[in-house]
Amino acid sequence: MKNIKAPLRTCIGCRSKFPQNTLIRFVCRTGDALEMQELKKLPGRGAYVCRSKSCIENAFKVPKRINTLLRVQLSESVFTEFKQALLEKEIIADEKKETASS
Ligand SMILES: [Zn+2]
Repeated sequence: MKNIKAPLRTCIGCRSKFPQNTLIRFVCRTGDALEMQELKKLPGRGAYVCRSKSCIENAFKVPKRINTLLRVQLSESVFTEFKQALLEKEIIADEKKETASS
C-alpha cells in the first residue's frame, strides 16, 4: 500500500483536478441544505470546488449538476444562499482577473 498524501479531486467549477486539501468540500446531509466541510469529515456524498470566486460562481451556475452529483433535489435558492455564504466566508484571491470577458 502506498502512502497517498493528497488525493486529487475534481473542482466542479473548472473541472480540473487539485489536491483534496486545497479545495472546499461541501455535502448535503439533510436533503434540504448544503454544508461546508471544514476539518472534520461529514458523512454523505460530497462535491469539491476551488477557493476561487470564478469557480464558486461557475459551480453554482448549474444547480442541476450539483443535484445530480449529490443525488439530491435542492432548490435554486439553497444554492444561491450557499454560494453567498461561501463567497463571504472564503478568502477569494482572484479578484484581479477582471478583464476576462471584456
Ligand atoms: Zn476550480
